[in-house]
Amino acid sequence: MNRFLSALVVSAVAAATSHAAPLKALIIDGQNNHDWKSTTPVIRRILETTGRFTVEVATSPAKGGDMAGFKPRFAGNDVLVSNYNGEPWSEETQKAFVAYVRGGGGFVTVHAANNSFPEWPEYNTMIGVGGWGGRTEKSGPYIRLRDGKFVNDTTAGRGGSHGKQHDFLVEVRDSTHPITAGLPTKWMHVKDELYDRLRGPAANVTVLATAFADPAQGGSGEHEPMLMVIPFGKGRVFHTTLGHGVDALKCVGAASTLARGAEWAATGKVTLKPLENFPTAEKTSKLD
Ligand code: ZN
Repeated sequence: MNRFLSALVVSAVAAATSHAAPLKALIIDGQNNHDWKSTTPVIRRILETTGRFTVEVATSPAKGGDMAGFKPRFAGNDVLVSNYNGEPWSEETQKAFVAYVRGGGGFVTVHAANNSFPEWPEYNTMIGVGGWGGRTEKSGPYIRLRDGKFVNDTTAGRGGSHGKQHDFLVEVRDSTHPITAGLPTKWMHVKDELYDRLRGPAANVTVLATAFADPAQGGSGEHEPMLMVIPFGKGRVFHTTLGHGVDALKCVGAASTLARGAEWAATGKVTLKPLENFPTAEKTSKLD
């Protein structure tokens, strides 16, 4: 059995022995400036092999297609996972999405999904901060770590950038949250884009983990939010900036927090154990 499976089976056994009913997850994709056709199956596998989720995928029309007919059934799912960065959804679909999360549904935004919908206020409130798409100080503040606390910084400037892809250290800033409780407080993440200078409404955002955007790599010189949670109505949002491509998603730290974040968004609790072979502060670790 390869390491990917063996690590996940441990989690599946843990989930099975807790007699938890499977949670329904719906991944949304179809447009992205990233290779969603390769990354959605990895996200799916990370969730399914925990034994905690059943997964379906809603794929939008390609860019330029007729979005009017894109009406995924959000209701009835425990969590929606966005791997979508593309054209606006129809007003009807936007309303259904907002109603779903506001009514208590879970939402997970993965990497470039936080580039989506710069002009959609509720979406930006849900994700807390986002990047690109013309985002500036008009979109809201940056979240900055100052004297051990996260503060909103309204300094003018672009929203969203990243330096060269590289391995980087993820630092847990809140070990009391169910998603990060029990995880190593520092781990080396597999080569990825380190999103920096994200901005948005930044209201009620709890930053769970950061990474230092090293100017030597083209970064902002700040400890940038990597993992966040945001309440929205009765719903819960987990925001991971990690996962530019397949290898970055397969980082055991990224995969563990994605699965645990999805479970938390769905239920408010986390039963999934951290995956085996968790990376250390010095050494990356990747699923097969
Ligand atoms: Zn990317």
